[in-house]
Amino acid sequence: MSPLADRYGRRFPYLRLSVIPACNFRCTYCLPHGYHPDPKAAQPLSLPEITRLLRGFTVLGMHKLRITGGEPSVRHDLADILRTAAAVPGITRLAMTTNGTLLTRKLHEWMDVGLNAINVSVDSLDRAVFARITGHDRLEDILHGVDMALAAGLPSVKLNAVLLRDVNDKQLPSWLDYLRERRLGVRFIELMQTGDNLPYFRDHHVRAETLETQLLESGWQVLPRAADAGPAREYRHPDYAGRIGIIAPYSKDFCAGCNRLRVTATGDLRLCLFGEFGIPLRPLLQADEQLDDLVHAIGGQIGRKEQGHFLHEGRTGITPHLASTGG
Ligand code: SAM
Repeated sequence: MSPLADRYGRRFPYLRLSVIPACNFRCTYCLPHGYHPDPKAAQPLSLPEITRLLRGFTVLGMHKLRITGGEPSVRHDLADILRTAAAVPGITRLAMTTNGTLLTRKLHEWMDVGLNAINVSVDSLDRAVFARITGHDRLEDILHGVDMALAAGLPSVKLNAVLLRDVNDKQLPSWLDYLRERRLGVRFIELMQTGDNLPYFRDHHVRAETLETQLLESGWQVLPRAADAGPAREYRHPDYAGRIGIIAPYSKDFCAGCNRLRVTATGDLRLCLFGEFGIPLRPLLQADEQLDDLVHAIGGQIGRKEQGHFLHEGRTGITPHLASTGG
């Protein structure tokens, strides 16, 4: 079967799978009051359902998988999910996005079962600011986990920092100190509006342009974009071991580089983080014999993918917060 492509010629080798909507943090821009389970909500996909889902996507050319949430490490069978995913033929890159709260305890187990890339969310290197944003005074332990991942030789280690006006948007010097000797990437992400965060978004959204100007003025160079690259703009500097990526969803042509699809914890395919609908795949994950039907269902939906999101118009689709869809 030929790899999945949409009507704009974009291919989708990359799947982001949320494995749980629950999160143990209370980030001000995402779940400021913490996660509250909906008693009527379906349970997250089981391990056999996840296995079938991944087999279906690999038939369609997926080879990079990111496990996300919610907070994936809240799920007790996370190591089994990673082991199973790593064993699916065709998956060559197994990544996870996490807040890092279990990193020091679980890193080696996750690596042993096949994890080869990690993104850890660290919105500030200042302990008090980090605690204010996340609701948890855990920065030191999380950064220790990041250093452990580097020392253990995890092939890809990145940090995610959401840029927040008047909260953490003037902290470039501390990031530069941090990156001087560490061979990792930091990705500064512009705050995105979601269904639930409009007042916060209005107060704290800041474009990454000022930061990019500062980078260019201090000798950072933007890297040419690789053909299969995602939407980040990558910068490097000869004096620094680390790299900086900018994710600017409000910038022109952001969606032209879209190479990913998403599946929620309960098995809904989302063609866009900010799309207006989810396509339930769970009924097609109940038996191995449904593989062909699953593949056709996914392939048949791809034509509905829009050329771009409508965030500029304040249209956030059905995403109340990123924990619900898988950020
Ligand atoms: N719990 C994990 C974590 O902390 O990384 C994975 C899920 S979290 C939703 C994934 C990423 O989305 C995090 O880096 C988080 O900071 C980012 N994020 C959440 N809400 C966002 C928003 N409104 N705009 C931009 N990034 C957001």
